[in-house]
Amino acid sequence: MKMFTILKDIAKNTFSKPYTRKYPFEVRPHFPGERGKLVIEEDKCIFCGICARKCPANALTVTRKPDQAWQFERFRCILCGACVEACPKKCLHLVPRLDEKQ
Ligand code: SF4
Ligand code: SF4
Repeated sequence: MKMFTILKDIAKNTFSKPYTRKYPFEVRPHFPGERGKLVIEEDKCIFCGICARKCPANALTVTRKPDQAWQFERFRCILCGACVEACPKKCLHLVPRLDEKQ
């Protein structure tokens, strides 16, 4: 009986499609709301620093006048979205794709 079950499984797995994808040739479609990476529209930023104060991972550094700068340490970011929600100018966005080409 057990042998029959094993043979059945072997036959099924031999002729069925694999459950895995042939990455990188076949890329999984991204689902709605996926948090891939943080991007900024820097021209809208007023360098208020609210995003940096809200960030739980200390991934953001904002320098005010006169040397205005917005810096982001990507590998510290946990993609929580706290900065996106807090930004008064709505210039931060979590985009779905973690893709170096974007
Ligand atoms: S909260 Fe928004 S406007 Fe303020 S520094 Fe951050 S990104 Fe710029
Ligand atoms: S998404 Fe979260 S962890 Fe990443 S920079 Fe914004 S507040 Fe910090």
